[in-house]
Amino acid sequence: MSTVNFEALKGVVDIPVEAERLLAKSEKEIRFSLNILLYPMGLVEADAYVVYHNSARGPAKGGLRIWPTVTLEHTRDLAELMTWKTALVGIPFGGGKSGICLDPRTLPAENKTAIIKEYVHMISAELRSGAYVPAPDLGSTPSDMAVIYGETHVPESVTGKPPRVGGLPGRREATGYGVAHVAALASEALLHAPIAGQRIAVQGFGNVGEWTCRFLHERGAKIVAVTDLTGGVYDARGLDVEALQRHADEAGGVAGAEGEAISNEQLLALDVDVLVPAAVEDVITAESAANLRARLVIEAANGPTTPEGEAVLQARGIPVVPDILANSGGVVASYVEWRQAKSGSMTKARETYQIVAEQLESAFLQVRELASARRTSDRLAAQAVAAQELIATMRDRSWIPA
Ligand code: NAD
Repeated sequence: MSTVNFEALKGVVDIPVEAERLLAKSEKEIRFSLNILLYPMGLVEADAYVVYHNSARGPAKGGLRIWPTVTLEHTRDLAELMTWKTALVGIPFGGGKSGICLDPRTLPAENKTAIIKEYVHMISAELRSGAYVPAPDLGSTPSDMAVIYGETHVPESVTGKPPRVGGLPGRREATGYGVAHVAALASEALLHAPIAGQRIAVQGFGNVGEWTCRFLHERGAKIVAVTDLTGGVYDARGLDVEALQRHADEAGGVAGAEGEAISNEQLLALDVDVLVPAAVEDVITAESAANLRARLVIEAANGPTTPEGEAVLQARGIPVVPDILANSGGVVASYVEWRQAKSGSMTKARETYQIVAEQLESAFLQVRELASARRTSDRLAAQAVAAQELIATMRDRSWIPA
């Protein structure tokens, strides 16, 4: 079943029945058992999946997740999310994802490398042909991507590689850069105030949360609170982001950094201008949405707002900039890395940032225009913009009637 509510979407944009049929299911699903004898682990047998949701716009793009909760159903949902994201931000990729059901935290490094090599062996045709292009996701790292490249010998077969191995300067921080850029645009458009001086609370201080804080701080915003799995800190005058980052590096989390200690629940209810959930799914529920005091929510994590939470926020008039728009900087940068690998050119980080900013800004303006014209949420408008793009592409390719 699709993650998108087509009935609601059809209230905003015309969707031909053939387009709905193609978008409501995945195009191709590969399921295999990754079997490998390793020492000291013994025989490893892991369920593994590759899903192509829709490749009308280009190669199926999406991360490799190595986590004990990986299932075919979840891999399918994540592949679909990539179809909507890549179409929305106008890059020539389709939506894909792959997963290996294993706990990477328990794997000795040499065993993980052997597992990645076996994964490449099992889906060699997909990777070498360029039909599916992985990137790091939960449980996989840039150096795992370098191992994939080492097996395929095709530079553009994988993105998210370390810069020394053909990776892209700026890729690591691109998602946070994009979140900060979208937050600035949304502050102007929805709060009618520049981002400089806005009071911001961020949940999560991993890759996305940390870079979001750093880029927002650079733009003059006041990061007043940050939480993560270890706890959190608050300072109404604004936290020292660099000191926070040093503390988190040393202590393994933000708890105990300078400022008043706060919990994740308290962060969600803080009196701030902008709330940025940048950690995990389903944190803005009907209950937390009722207590939320932020004036704007920017979804940096995937799926941080439940449908019930969104309904409460909508009723309260608190706008939500959806994940497929706010956190797409990473996949835009992946596109730049893929392009660089295909052409053999080199890219500077500032060029990466510029392309991320341009693609996200164009998508943001289209979403705002449609949301205002149709008086709908930004989430529905973002899906509608992506749907229009996908429908036009599928027509161009004669996948659906003209
Ligand atoms: P990460 O693992 O680097 O960081 C996750 C952060 O969230 C950590 O600070 C962790 O302590 C915190 N966290 C985890 N569980 C929590 C909880 N229950 N309550 C509060 N904090 C918690 O992950 P990341 O790469 O920063 O990704 C964060 C989110 O952004 C995820 O939803 C991911 O799917 C999404 N995302 C990431 C990228 C990317 O380029 N990394 C791109 C698009 C979307």
